[in-house]
Amino acid sequence: MHFIDGFATIAKNYIDKIHEDPVYPGKNVIDNLKQLDTTLQHESTDTNAVLHLLHELGSPATVKSTGGRYFGFVTGGCLPAAMSAKLLATVWDQNGALTVMSPIASACENIAGKWLLQIFSLPAECGFGFVTGDTMANFTALAAARHSVLQKAGWDVESKGLFNAPEIKVIVGEEVHISVLKVLNMLGFGRDRIIRIPVDGQGRMIAEKVPVSNDPAIICTQSGNVNSGAFDDVETICSMKGKNTWVHVDGAFGLWAAASPQKKYLVKGIELADSWATDAHKWLNVPYDCGIVFVRDKEAMFSSMSATTAAYIPTNALREPFQYVPEMSRQARAIPVWAALKSLGTSGLSAMIEKNCIQAKQFADALTAEGFAILNDVVLNQVLVHFGDVEKTNAIIKSIQEEGVCWCGGTVWQGKPAMRISVSSWATTNEDVQLSVRSIIKHAKM
Ligand SMILES: *Cc1c(COP(=O)(O)O)cnc(C)c1O
Repeated sequence: MHFIDGFATIAKNYIDKIHEDPVYPGKNVIDNLKQLDTTLQHESTDTNAVLHLLHELGSPATVKSTGGRYFGFVTGGCLPAAMSAKLLATVWDQNGALTVMSPIASACENIAGKWLLQIFSLPAECGFGFVTGDTMANFTALAAARHSVLQKAGWDVESKGLFNAPEIKVIVGEEVHISVLKVLNMLGFGRDRIIRIPVDGQGRMIAEKVPVSNDPAIICTQSGNVNSGAFDDVETICSMKGKNTWVHVDGAFGLWAAASPQKKYLVKGIELADSWATDAHKWLNVPYDCGIVFVRDKEAMFSSMSATTAAYIPTNALREPFQYVPEMSRQARAIPVWAALKSLGTSGLSAMIEKNCIQAKQFADALTAEGFAILNDVVLNQVLVHFGDVEKTNAIIKSIQEEGVCWCGGTVWQGKPAMRISVSSWATTNEDVQLSVRSIIKHAKM
């Protein structure tokens, strides 16, 4: 048998069964993974046999996040067009670093980048890059920010580094995502120097508390709080900013609200910012991994990421993908993004976003009707439900997870323990919502 036929059979088998299997693997199938850990044998193993073993032991031990009832973290499903495009890209095995290495990878970046700027209503002249996820999208954007504010202060950070550089005020909200803090550390900004702005009951930065000055400053705003789904008032924050302030938007999943005529109001004013980070593996429902970064000042982005010492935009018309991101050799991430957008169209994309938002409301309404408190304003796809103290909350979450009808995780929201429901998949049907609601209520009342 050709290995592709063997693979296709296995893949189809997995996809066909996704709705029957428990959303989270049971203890026994996780224990079975020990069987993979043999001593590395001397003789070779046939390709089909390798794949069979992986399917037999591995497929049952996956988290069924491509089905319709996984609501953990913020986890997108996987659109069929995006999944197959990614598989084809793997068959092609293209290196997406340089255009000469893969004309198709480069073409998909250019087209998908242009389409995404239109979807988010961002300036067409923005630079963009495809990275592993929103963490690296934040990194890339904030490296460009570091370059720009220091250049305006007369300092070339790429050649001189940060020692003795003019000080940059780095401002975040109290509810900043941990990935932004990680990135700020990696960029040399220092955890203890970061200025944290108080937030309101939804986790939004209180704009009036943001300090204003003309000294070098970077403000990291958020579109879509990972718990509440709330959006910082980017419009007001941008209107107050000083002469050398860079405003960044972390919109890992929230930026996709821009794709929906109904939800677009949530991202009002984001086009006034200087850089934006988002994930395609969350709400665009492409396979892992894919984050995307956009920077208004393409030259700042190029200067901070370029491998050459002389920072210049090449005069030949080719856009070299690696000059806008941290990596050189890299997978062709824009291929599944192109395929997802081509298959959905703008109407399909907005319909997917709006469907998930309506489903989040259905969760909230059904749980409210049963007497449970919802801790957030359900403006997007995130729901925080309160069951009681930590012990009780953890016990309820554990039994929901163990039943396997759906999977939700826990959190603490402004001092109160809660269960998080994040509806982020094209595959989630209204029946999936009903089944999950029933399971949640059953366990919460036990
Ligand atoms: C998920 C998320 C991130 C991190 O994204 P990764 O893709 O895991 O790197 C950052 N910020 C917010 C608001 C997120 O939701």
